[in-house]
Amino acid sequence: MTYKTERITPAPQLVKPRTGPIKGSVIHSTRGGTSSPEVDYSATKNWFTSPNNMARNSQGQPLGYGGCASRIIGPAGEMTIVMPDDQMPTYSAGYGAIGPPVEFLVDQHYISYELAQPTINTPYTDPQIDRIAMEIALDAKTYGFPIIMRDFRDDQTVPLPGVTRHDRTANGRKLGKSDPGHMFPEVRFVTLARAYLEGVDDMKVIAYILEGQPEQALLIGAHLEHVDSRTQLDALKRIYQRRGVEWVEVAVKKGSPDWNDLQQLGGHYDRLPRKLFQ
Ligand SMILES: [Zn+2]
Repeated sequence: MTYKTERITPAPQLVKPRTGPIKGSVIHSTRGGTSSPEVDYSATKNWFTSPNNMARNSQGQPLGYGGCASRIIGPAGEMTIVMPDDQMPTYSAGYGAIGPPVEFLVDQHYISYELAQPTINTPYTDPQIDRIAMEIALDAKTYGFPIIMRDFRDDQTVPLPGVTRHDRTANGRKLGKSDPGHMFPEVRFVTLARAYLEGVDDMKVIAYILEGQPEQALLIGAHLEHVDSRTQLDALKRIYQRRGVEWVEVAVKKGSPDWNDLQQLGGHYDRLPRKLFQ
């Protein structure tokens, strides 16, 4: 899939040279409260170029920094590169509940992504999740970190390599941050990112599972044991559609021979593609 990529130049108070080696990527969402993810995406681009994006103290004095991120991803999978990786935001997930020297500064070591999401309950789009998986897999390959979800809410004196979310950092804990929140499909993201990292088509991975060859899927780097059956079926549907094969879903009666076959495949389905058994 080819997605659009844009670049902006952030306002000078929002960037500085990166001060530590890159160990991973951190996921945020915009929560701009606008009318749609499209509007939140463009509003965030504007905000990251604005002189008004400036933290102030209780007397209203400017503190010389503001909120920013390395990249923004919109609902059609479009991405804005805000800064190169040798620069870091002056703030996106700073020190939090514990503080230095026990706690590390996430921005120093992690490339930050903003997903356009106006509110906590706005669903993320499929292209958005596909694009962030693709990009973080590329980061993982470039900087040699694993696609493992890390929880930094307590403290870490040594920043572990991997992927985290603002709501799983000590800063997020202190500030009560809920991004990217409960709508973020983490299992799908991890599955896709690992498939991209291994250079394997995720559809192929899921097809192996559905076709009763989980060991084959494991061999090519899949960790799909928690992928729900709806996600698997959607993926298989896309495989067939790519191949130009008509997709017909049929209901399966509980306890029927087909149902029993499905249980043996490890799924818990009440519908399945007819093609699977032809
Ligand atoms: Zn955030």
